Amino acid sequence: MGKLVRLFIVLALVSLVTMPSTMIVPVSSVRTVSVDTSVAATRTVPMSIKIVFIGFNQSTLNTTYMNWKENIPFKRVGQVLTEPKDTGVVFNLYYDFVFASTPFEKELLTYLRKIGVTKDKLNPWFGVSVTNFLYDADKFEDWLFQNREMYGGLPTNGYTFFVANLTQLPSVTYDQMARPWMKSPTPHYFSVDYYDLDLGYKIRNREFMTAWGGHHGFWFLDLSAGPSFNTPNDAPIQAVITALEIDLRTVYGVSWLTEYLSDYIWESVYNLAVPQFVYLPKYSEKYHLAITILDNRTKEEKEQIPIGKTVRPDLIKKSYKDLVPYSDIEITVTFRNCSDDKELLREMANSYRDSRDPSQSYVDLRPLYRFLQAKLSRYVANISQNERELTIPVFCFAFSESYLGYTYKWDVSATSEIDETFSGLAQEDMVVCALTQTNEFDRGAIVDPPQPNKGMGFTQLIIHEVGHMIGLMHPHQYGDVNDFVSSAMSYFCYDYNFSQFDKDALRRMHTDQLTMQALVKSSELKVASSTKVTSLYNPPELIRAEELLARVDEQYSSMNYTAAVVTALEARKLFYDVFPRIVRLPNAALLLAQWLFIFGVVAGYCIARRLEKPERSKPKHQ
Ligand SMILES: [Zn+2]
Repeated sequence: MGKLVRLFIVLALVSLVTMPSTMIVPVSSVRTVSVDTSVAATRTVPMSIKIVFIGFNQSTLNTTYMNWKENIPFKRVGQVLTEPKDTGVVFNLYYDFVFASTPFEKELLTYLRKIGVTKDKLNPWFGVSVTNFLYDADKFEDWLFQNREMYGGLPTNGYTFFVANLTQLPSVTYDQMARPWMKSPTPHYFSVDYYDLDLGYKIRNREFMTAWGGHHGFWFLDLSAGPSFNTPNDAPIQAVITALEIDLRTVYGVSWLTEYLSDYIWESVYNLAVPQFVYLPKYSEKYHLAITILDNRTKEEKEQIPIGKTVRPDLIKKSYKDLVPYSDIEITVTFRNCSDDKELLREMANSYRDSRDPSQSYVDLRPLYRFLQAKLSRYVANISQNERELTIPVFCFAFSESYLGYTYKWDVSATSEIDETFSGLAQEDMVVCALTQTNEFDRGAIVDPPQPNKGMGFTQLIIHEVGHMIGLMHPHQYGDVNDFVSSAMSYFCYDYNFSQFDKDALRRMHTDQLTMQALVKSSELKVASSTKVTSLYNPPELIRAEELLARVDEQYSSMNYTAAVVTALEARKLFYDVFPRIVRLPNAALLLAQWLFIFGVVAGYCIARRLEKPERSKPKHQ
């Protein structure tokens, strides 16, 4: 009996000593755990919006009234167009209103007069040739950046919007707009030049802008410029005031002007500062753009413009590396002749909508998209949809004349089938685009004046459409004027690069996601730790992870989002690495019960021994 009890005590003690050590997993044996990127959390972050008024009299604007929720937005929940849920990020917006000083306004006008040129040419808004006063938009943007101290500098955590009224420059009047044949119009504009970098075509009529920005964290709008054919709903302010008979000397006149400018500020904040996303942006270590060019042109067309000249993978890579510098970018381009792909040819023939006018015929995208979806692995090998690598399949059709079309039932009232056609569409799992020999590759032949042997290729279109797939929306979602921005996502501009607003929005969202994942894991860790004997294992990685999260906040609030993504990744990794080790620690309650059991056994043994004492004290030899 005594031997049995002793054996039991020894076993219990051994198990007690060895148990915690078996539960602590050595650091080297912990492997990187997979991350649940669907975690839901909410983050509220501040953002400053600075408004600089140029050419407006302080007595005709009421900034106290402007700074009210019906006039400008104060809260913006991150929106995703294609998802029922929001991004989990709430922006609190703080405004700073500044009236430009008289010396600054004078210098600004002097500079614009210096760089301005006069051009008599067909103005698409008027439909006739007029005298246009043009200012180089990039130069002016650069001047505003160089002279930023003259208006108090740019905010470190936010954006600046200039709202100008420059009627001291040649500007249109209401009469000129209403009766251009009586009064020769004298509009002024900001101008850019765009060329297609595949086939050299010069994009026409890019002289006629009323706003510009995007290379830095600011954007300027000249309400006295225009009218521009691209923004028919935005007439120059001086013409609007005359047309509506607004008297700025009255109380209502001041309210009207304040509201009018507020609407532009609202649009700009929504389009540029805190834009909506098309799809929820997904951070990935590597984005692989798997481009398949499907050539369905005639033999002569192929000889005239070789398909290899219609795409520049180097430019696509450069553009995306500039957008997400912390990720790897791989671009692969595969050229295929549709004539070698019998199944695809049959599918296209079955989806072809014929018209007597071949320029209005098209291939219906919906059945074709379904076909490509079903046969995806035939065109793109090794599709990856995780954080290590995100494959983005891109299909580009080279047609002779007809396009791709997307039919809607309400289009039966459209005056022309051409209304249903498009050049690119970004679905959630692939991009499908189409360009034609007649209208794009050889576009120089059909325009007036002609641009012989010049055309437009796929590169800019691919950059734009893939921009949607990784999340970015058009800058004109909430108002046309913000399309005047240096961004591949603009319709009007023909940029190969993304604006600072695009870059910030995407990188900020990646930081938000990674930070929210780290915070969720951190709180799970705290819950798990509360029942564990953490005195046995208090990893220094946890302190480091908390320090990193604090650094993410610093980088985020100084808009250094690229660094913030990298720091947030490091912090998240530490929380995920430590978590399984904490989970494996002994449970505090269980350990206490174990100790109490041992104590009971020892106490029992001592009592039993005492009871046995008289027998033991017997002499061995009597
Ligand atoms: Zn688009």
